[in-house]
Amino acid sequence: MSRIAIVGAGASGLAAAFQLSEKSHEVCVFEKSRGVSGRAASRSRNGCRYDYGANYFKPESNEVAELIFRTLPHDELCRIAGDIWTFDANGNHAPGDPKQNASAKWTYRSGISTLGKLLIDAGNFTLRRESLIEGLHHHKTHWTVKETGGTSHGPFDKVLLTPPAPQSVDLLKNSEASPEMLSDMISVLESVPYHIQFSVMLNFNATLTLPGDAYAMINTDRKHRLAWLSNEGQKQGHVPAGESLLVAQMNPKWSAEHEEDSPPSIIAAAYESVNSLLGNNLPTLHWADTQRWRYAHPNGEAKIEDTASASEIGLYFAGDAFVGKGRVPGALQTGLAAANRMLAHS
Ligand SMILES: Cc1cc2nc3c(=O)[nH]c(=O)nc-3n(C[C@H](O)[C@H](O)[C@H](O)COP(=O)(O)OP(=O)(O)OC[C@H]3O[C@@H](n4cnc5c(N)ncnc54)[C@H](O)[C@@H]3O)c2cc1C
Repeated sequence: MSRIAIVGAGASGLAAAFQLSEKSHEVCVFEKSRGVSGRAASRSRNGCRYDYGANYFKPESNEVAELIFRTLPHDELCRIAGDIWTFDANGNHAPGDPKQNASAKWTYRSGISTLGKLLIDAGNFTLRRESLIEGLHHHKTHWTVKETGGTSHGPFDKVLLTPPAPQSVDLLKNSEASPEMLSDMISVLESVPYHIQFSVMLNFNATLTLPGDAYAMINTDRKHRLAWLSNEGQKQGHVPAGESLLVAQMNPKWSAEHEEDSPPSIIAAAYESVNSLLGNNLPTLHWADTQRWRYAHPNGEAKIEDTASASEIGLYFAGDAFVGKGRVPGALQTGLAAANRMLAHS
């Protein structure tokens, strides 16, 4: 039995923790936030439940489908009604790719963060919330992890890092281990920058629909101020009858240019963009919410093979930096794969 520390309770970290605890390893997950599930995030406000990070998932591999549809409880799963349409820089919209639209899109009735909670309930591991890990220390035979405030935890035989690559880089720069290995791993992770993105949630006291009764609309030429618009009302149990909640994800370039703008000005820009896209007859806003995702999506892909020298001394990696795009199923897959590599080395 190995003692394993996992940094990050997002999809990748929790999938790894679940898998390792199934094989009776002693696992402790350290999560800097109070909530779990990372960017697969949901929030409740004024009777609405909404997904303000990842908006849906489509399991892409048999292993992830097995986990979601069979291993974990699935009575809370909710198949999202409606297609994903497209729009261009000028706001011209069209039905999306029929092949893509034919495959089911999923979330949970209580929000996409239910995925993280189900992995925690099904696994048998320790979870330390509000525990920001700022560095690692490799001793000859084991690892310790350093929490802000100075507390060290350990000993651990193995450590798995799952934060977005730039956050793992900060952590490694503050770590004590072979300098050559650290600098190699920092180079691997620095090859994957992440972009910033604002999510803006707009609530109305009216029932609104998107063109074609679509669930969502995506900007395909990436030149519109909006990258994505979706209707949470298409998800069972998310929005009370007679109301609407639209999720607008702003263009990454626009988000970077407005990084320091105040929430009211971000909300005003999102409202104006959605209004123009939908034909300039949006009702008055009832309430709104915003989230600035500092590390929303990876712009590149690191190769897990390039981390092999670190795993030889018990340091492993997972997360969407190794997928090449922001995807919940991809992140789950990297967590399962990391667990399998650790089991193979046990
Ligand atoms: C706006 C937006 C829309 C998206 N839309 C979709 C979508 O529709 N479909 C889809 O499949 N995917 C989507 N994604 C991408 C998807 O959310 C991610 O790819 C996936 O959730 C990443 O999981 P992860 O485990 O790799 O990372 P994360 O979910 O980021 O988990 C990492 C965890 O590590 C924690 N952490 C970081 N540093 C430390 C530290 N030093 N100490 C302790 N804890 C730490 C973080 O708090 C976090 O909980 C979207 C993402 C965003 C932001």
